Amino acid sequence: MLTLQNAIGAGRVTSASARTAPVFDPATGEQTGLLPLSTRAEVDAAVAAAKSAAPEWGRTPPLKRVRHMFKFKELLDRHVADIARAISKEHGKTHADALGEVARGIEVVDFACGIPHLLKGEYSRNVGPDVDSWSDRAPLGVVAGITPFNFPAMVPLWMYPIAIACGNTFVLKPSERDPSAPMLVWDLFREAGFPDGVLNVVHGDKEAVDALLDHPDVKAVSFVGSTPIAEYVYARGTAKGKRVQALGGAKNHMVILPDADIDKAADALMGAGYGSAGERCMAVSVAVPVGERTANALIEALAPRVRALKIGPASDPDAEMGPLVTEQHQRKVLGYIDKGVAEGADLVVDGRGFRLQGYENGYFVGGTLFDRVRPDMTIYREEIFGPVLSVVRTGSFDEAVGLIQAHEYGNGTAIFTRDGDAARAFADQIEVGMVGVNVPIPVPVAYHSFGGWKRSLFGDHSIYGMEGVRFYTRLKTVTSRWPTGIRSGAEFNFPSLK
Ligand code: NAD
Repeated sequence: MLTLQNAIGAGRVTSASARTAPVFDPATGEQTGLLPLSTRAEVDAAVAAAKSAAPEWGRTPPLKRVRHMFKFKELLDRHVADIARAISKEHGKTHADALGEVARGIEVVDFACGIPHLLKGEYSRNVGPDVDSWSDRAPLGVVAGITPFNFPAMVPLWMYPIAIACGNTFVLKPSERDPSAPMLVWDLFREAGFPDGVLNVVHGDKEAVDALLDHPDVKAVSFVGSTPIAEYVYARGTAKGKRVQALGGAKNHMVILPDADIDKAADALMGAGYGSAGERCMAVSVAVPVGERTANALIEALAPRVRALKIGPASDPDAEMGPLVTEQHQRKVLGYIDKGVAEGADLVVDGRGFRLQGYENGYFVGGTLFDRVRPDMTIYREEIFGPVLSVVRTGSFDEAVGLIQAHEYGNGTAIFTRDGDAARAFADQIEVGMVGVNVPIPVPVAYHSFGGWKRSLFGDHSIYGMEGVRFYTRLKTVTSRWPTGIRSGAEFNFPSLK
């Protein structure tokens, strides 16, 4: 069984913590690893390593910084399959899905390789007589990232390539449920030649997170996870004077207008609703057909597809989705299905009885489809984070839009239609951060930025892309005048153009 280590400064370090957490293979239910729940002192050591590396790394010319980043990208490309296997073993997602996750993470490294250009400032000559002014962005120093279980390689890669390319040093606190992939990526990062202490990894739970939030040397915190914890991290981190971006949970709706191609919409819903067993913050968990005919046709198209879902371990190349991440999460999702039935939704396909021969102890839940879900039901209001799709029937476009506006989350949404006017009106009106038009999971590419609205994001910046560059840097503006300009003596009035 694997015992995980932290990575502090130059190498891996065995934790001295008395507290540990088990790591499981969700397909079999077997314990495969033991994770240290690091102490405050261990977090302090990681921050100290990052702090001692920060001044020199911040002074290193951006072009030199990205030479390591290019090498890192090359190593990631070479080890995509190893990283994907490490993800699947502890997360449970299929190999193809894990490969996709790593590919989307590498795209952020691609973006970070362009940092010399992205950090170029602005220069204005003669803002006053013989006065020039220039602005550029400086690193913050030590920054930290706290990440969720559902993308153990990609979400850390949303953060530190940009933070580090900008000249910061980084402390990562990955999810305790699937910690091996981020460690494998750390090995590649070191192989790429980055100096000691530029990237540190500390495993742990609330104690480690609180230590990062309270530490005076940590200048900014990026968090991705559930909304209650995102809100907590934002409140505690900002109260300590830090910059915080905290991305939270979601309930993503997909509207299907009467003119949509129902088969295409159903296929899109299958991938977006059940891919990765619904454990994606951009999963579509609510389908919103407009009109009874659309709803009936959609249910007719969806039900056989959900029944035919191929569910299996990541080692099965035909599997379309795998198990849930932990037994506790499996129980929670099953509990939501019970609740949906108790609250009166129509259970069209019931995934509760799903069993897989040879994997009886795995954390599987079958694909589940509810029809006639109402906005007051628990399964509509809360994020289930499992293979459970709810259909909420609406009578008009305005009713569908109103439904989405009223939900507390605003991460992603989509509309399926052939009507350009309706699609444009939807994109304009909807209070959601990421919108797809005939695209079910509109995750922005690395050179745009990712972030929801409302209770799906706390803070002012989305993650990665130029928003990431802004988050991990602060603006400095220099106004300079050389001796000819100050010969006339002191000036006491507020400076203005003469
Ligand atoms: P989580 O909130 O349980 O954990 C996220 C991180 O917070 C982990 O590193 C964990 O160790 C830490 N944490 C947990 N409890 C804590 C506490 N009490 N105090 C301090 N830190 C704590 O989330 P999860 O279950 O790992 O991930 C699933 C959630 O993440 C879902 O809600 C999903 O929507 C969300 N998510 C959001 C995005 C996004 O971009 N908005 C992306 C991926 C996942």
